Amino acid sequence: MSDSNIITPKLQLVAWEITRGCNLFCAHCRAASDGTHYSGELTSGECFKVVDQIAELGKPILILSGGEPLVRHDVYEIGRYAVAKGLRVVMGSNGTLITAEVAAHLKEIPLSRISVSLDFPTPELQDKFRGQKGAYEAAIAGIANARKAGIEIQINSTITKLNVGYLNDLLALAQSVGACAFHPFLLVPTGRGKGLESVALSPQEYEKTLNWIYDRKKELGEAIFFKPTCSPHFLRVTKQREKEERLSGMTVKPGAAMGHPGGHHGGHPGGHPGMESITRGCLAGTGFAFISHRGDVQGCGYFNVSAGNVRGKSFVDIWNNSSLFNSLRDLDNYKGKCGICEYRKICGGCRARAYEETGDYLEGEPYCVYEPAASRQAESGRDAKGDSHSLGTNDVDKKLLNLIQSEFPLVREPYHALGEKLGVSEDEVISRIKELKAKGFVRQISPVFDPRRLGYRSTLVAMKAPASRLEQAEQTLIDHPGVSHGYERNHKFNLWFTLAIPPAGDIAEELRKLSDSTGVETALALPATRLFKIGTYFSSDNEGMGSAAMQFDGALPVEAVLSDLDKKVVNGLQQDLPLVREPFGMIARRLGISDGELIAQCRSLLERGVIRRFSASINHRRIGYTANAMTCWDVPPGKVDEAGKKIAALREVSHCYERKTDGSWPYNLFAMIHARDEEMCRKIADTASRETGLSNYVALFSTKEFKKMRIKYPV
Ligand code: SF4
Ligand code: SF4
Repeated sequence: MSDSNIITPKLQLVAWEITRGCNLFCAHCRAASDGTHYSGELTSGECFKVVDQIAELGKPILILSGGEPLVRHDVYEIGRYAVAKGLRVVMGSNGTLITAEVAAHLKEIPLSRISVSLDFPTPELQDKFRGQKGAYEAAIAGIANARKAGIEIQINSTITKLNVGYLNDLLALAQSVGACAFHPFLLVPTGRGKGLESVALSPQEYEKTLNWIYDRKKELGEAIFFKPTCSPHFLRVTKQREKEERLSGMTVKPGAAMGHPGGHHGGHPGGHPGMESITRGCLAGTGFAFISHRGDVQGCGYFNVSAGNVRGKSFVDIWNNSSLFNSLRDLDNYKGKCGICEYRKICGGCRARAYEETGDYLEGEPYCVYEPAASRQAESGRDAKGDSHSLGTNDVDKKLLNLIQSEFPLVREPYHALGEKLGVSEDEVISRIKELKAKGFVRQISPVFDPRRLGYRSTLVAMKAPASRLEQAEQTLIDHPGVSHGYERNHKFNLWFTLAIPPAGDIAEELRKLSDSTGVETALALPATRLFKIGTYFSSDNEGMGSAAMQFDGALPVEAVLSDLDKKVVNGLQQDLPLVREPFGMIARRLGISDGELIAQCRSLLERGVIRRFSASINHRRIGYTANAMTCWDVPPGKVDEAGKKIAALREVSHCYERKTDGSWPYNLFAMIHARDEEMCRKIADTASRETGLSNYVALFSTKEFKKMRIKYPV
């Protein structure tokens, strides 16, 4: 451990859920408030004691939040007490209870700022989202009352797919109501916000939004303080953009400050004097703490792990000594890509999202698309220090790679089961997989879903992109949530990718939009009409492709009937399997079912073909399969069945489909060949040609893999 990787804690912000009660029923609420009274809330006396303890640690900003803090009877007293102790007090509210009288009481505290949540720019949309008719007008009236009383206003918006298109309107609204700050808060799917998970921005959309914010922020200058909250990698985006601008000779202003987390109603009071100088993304446990209505202290309100409770311990003791906070302060503890990222000191990734997604709050941030330099080097076979990686003669790693690709155990303790097969301990299996991930061999372990069985429409797409447009086109495809695999290939149709869109979507329309935004000359949709083989298993010990590949008789899968439990499990399993002893138990708890139910349902989905396989996705280039040829055959209609089955039987063929043709694309049978070099791929194609008697084919080699990921299919 190096000292420079330890962050010295300095308490700058405390968000305090002084009540969980609320008068609204918002979809995204971390507090999951149901409007009722909550038992066990800290009493007034306990609150004063907590304020005393906070003040012992300095003069952080205290955010009174909820629920809705204004439903608590002693809110003014607590505020006044904190101010008397030298704290700067702000409030996160839904704004609907701020009458002129309430505003006058708040001013008397005196409250420095009030942040009000507005997620939509119109009354209809906002009321629907907030679960109460008139909520928008009441919030606007509350804002006006607070302003009249002389209290600063900040607007917070929870951003999802539902309102990302309204960001400009929300910004304009914030300016029109006289707010001094506007903080888009990028959804953290916990509490009642879990229900919004299906409309959370994809990591690509998230990245795009952060870049958009960077641009708008620059245009706005001092007009309004504008920054995203709880998107730690905005700091990374800022650094990257500033670097690009410096290289292109543009004048760059010093970096943008980050937003920070509070309670649910905009305990995000960034932009407050003193806040602008904060230069780290996630402050949980290093500069920020959250206190729940029952006194649990957490890294933030979205990060549901307790560092201790103020009823049993002093806040000072919890802040200084809790193992949770101390683990967050040591960057050497961070795992996954955040653990090796060159931006981890200024960013750190969202610990709440990591916890929600993997059960381990030290894991990589799941909503960040950035590939740290160290992992890019690992992909090309070199680590950050320049050491090349290879499996060498490590038989355990080789066997482990083969096992997790082909027969990942669907049992309560899968790593224990793998260890038994390999003759090593469960802990060793877990640490070997971690290492294989860090070195770029394993991408993730998860189910591979059949999009057709889930009702999605999918197709292979071929594009002809002029060299001048290639990079832009690839970026557009990287950003598209429905593109899973994308390659440049050595052909006049130089961009090839798979596209899947939700059941209600229209492939032709989506392709038209993609053609417009990529600026390509031609885009062909080549959907499958028959399926002969799918499945990829790359042996790590020179034995070629393995038995995990599945063969079919040609019929395409059709949409499956899914029960509510099926849907819950499908949605819950679309993540990298946590590297903990009982990974299914961890996911099951989040879904509110038992691990036995989850595993049984998972097996049932496998049997029904909804899950094609449950396995590790590996980087086949890293284990030596550096060449892949997409062979495309012109087969007379009456011979497709026979040829498809023969070609699919070759072990080096991972996928084999019949596809629609087009005037400019006569080839109807596609077979993907993987081998250790191009010459070997050609030999295998020759074998296929000999065995089928077909000679009219082309072999398109991939020259660049610009995207490869298991995409999410929410159902
Ligand atoms: S990988 Fe982690 S530390 Fe690096 S930019 Fe992304 S979220 Fe931040
Ligand atoms: S863990 Fe950090 S970035 Fe994530 S919600 Fe909490 S404070 Fe924000």
